[in-house]
Amino acid sequence: MLTQGHQVICVDNFLTGSATNLASLQDHPDFTVIQHDIIDPLPPSLRPTQIYNLACAASPRRYQADPIHTLRTCVQGVFNLLELAAAHDARILQASTSEVYGDPEVHPQHERYHGNVNPVGIRSCYDEGKRCAETLMSDFSRMRGVTGKIARIFNTYGPGMAPDDGRVVSTFICQALQNQALTVYGDGSQTRSLCYVDDMIEGLMLLMNSVDTFRGPVNLGNTHEVSIMQIAQHVSRLARQQVKVEFKPLPADDPTVRCPDITLAHHHLGWAPSVSIDEGLARTFAHFEHTLKGTGTWPLP
Ligand code: UDP
Repeated sequence: MLTQGHQVICVDNFLTGSATNLASLQDHPDFTVIQHDIIDPLPPSLRPTQIYNLACAASPRRYQADPIHTLRTCVQGVFNLLELAAAHDARILQASTSEVYGDPEVHPQHERYHGNVNPVGIRSCYDEGKRCAETLMSDFSRMRGVTGKIARIFNTYGPGMAPDDGRVVSTFICQALQNQALTVYGDGSQTRSLCYVDDMIEGLMLLMNSVDTFRGPVNLGNTHEVSIMQIAQHVSRLARQQVKVEFKPLPADDPTVRCPDITLAHHHLGWAPSVSIDEGLARTFAHFEHTLKGTGTWPLP
């Protein structure tokens, strides 16, 4: 966005985000950071033309640590941003999630599927929070004329992930780099479809700038589905050594399969991911390897 000449205001409470990831931008004249939690109304001085709402802890470990705050982020936070969008006639894009499909009975998941979500489980604060955020977006579109776009983001990874947030890719890579066993939950047969971060950002920007009438919800994700054991094998190959695996209990409500149908995104946005899992994992591995050399060690889950 900065390279396209836009002014960018980044609002972050730094609950899970890291200021280090913004270091290269700190001297850019068109970039500002405000430390703020969106569950509180946004400063009235902000006059945005486009709002990307990416706020909310996305790692199960992090969003379950304070589930009430997670829900408030998805409901009160989205409400506050929608009020801001309505006041300034700004477009708003909501980062929703494949979690709205819960443990899906339809595979791959298309946008017309309404999901299979447990409303009272340990993942519900995130799943139901994001579902409610979609409802708020739709009602502000219908009742207040807000141009609101909904992206359902499937598992996304890449350099810059927090090493200790418990996500499968960052955890496996950090474990391998420190000669620890990879912690596979359950028997590792559950699947995820991993999208590289650059592909995801391209999809989000295409959606934001697409015609007014196309608002989603639209799936954004990679269609290459892999089991958790296959991810462990990929990481083991990148580590150039036989890495041990330690099996741990599967967390409650952990979805058994996950793969997006991206027909809609392809048709309306001309979008499809281009970075293969081999390439994406290699880049992510190299990033963590480089960081580890600088710091010596990480706090691991
Ligand atoms: N997982 C695992 N070991 C880990 C972390 C995660 O086996 O150290 C599994 C987890 O049980 C889930 C999948 O990997 O089936 C993806 O987990 P993640 O937390 O990355 O995202 P989710 O898709 O569950 O939100």
